[in-house]
Amino acid sequence: MAKYTGPSCRQCRREGVKMFLKGDRCFSDKCAIVRRSTVPGQHGAARRGMMKNYGLQLREKQKAKRYYGVLEKQFKNYFVKADAAEGMTGENLLKLIERRLDNVVYRMGLAESRRDARQLVRHGHFTLNGGKANIPSQLVKLGDEIAVKDTSKSLPKFKSLVENIDNKKNPQWLDVDKQNLTAKVVALPAREDVDFEIQENLIVELYSK
Ligand code: SF4
Repeated sequence: MAKYTGPSCRQCRREGVKMFLKGDRCFSDKCAIVRRSTVPGQHGAARRGMMKNYGLQLREKQKAKRYYGVLEKQFKNYFVKADAAEGMTGENLLKLIERRLDNVVYRMGLAESRRDARQLVRHGHFTLNGGKANIPSQLVKLGDEIAVKDTSKSLPKFKSLVENIDNKKNPQWLDVDKQNLTAKVVALPAREDVDFEIQENLIVELYSK
């Protein structure tokens, strides 16, 4: 599936939930879900009301993909890995995607959205255990240390992000040093660390057909 380049808010309206794809705007009255939560398209609302099993499963998968900004093929690969691992496949899937480097940067409070985090990682503003880290899909491991590059800290982009960093909530599995703009992975993410509503069992059902 090709990369989605349309309006972010349309994706939230399509799934009927806030997916926080646009930074501060998502927390304001300007959020499209707050202003107009109808499904896009002439028959959108009717379509949602008529959804049966397959439709519900598909929507849940789309929601998870859009939330993390992952494309279909990559998402399926995560599912295969999650299925092969011990434990509940659905939980494994979410816990795996939480460990993406772009998600970690977002959860550190150093990006306005996951899309923003992805771009910052691609542009090489971070290090992982002191080395180069410019692959957003890289999965962090227990004990890993993520840091903003010294040369990037003085950039206006980071200066404005740092001003707001104290307002951002970090997950327990990351020990974030807000002064030095570093984080250490002190535990692997648990299911309860996933901060959006998702019924992962529906995604498992969809891929198990
Ligand atoms: Fe979604 Fe944010 Fe747009 Fe609201 S403002 S609809 S949460 S992307």
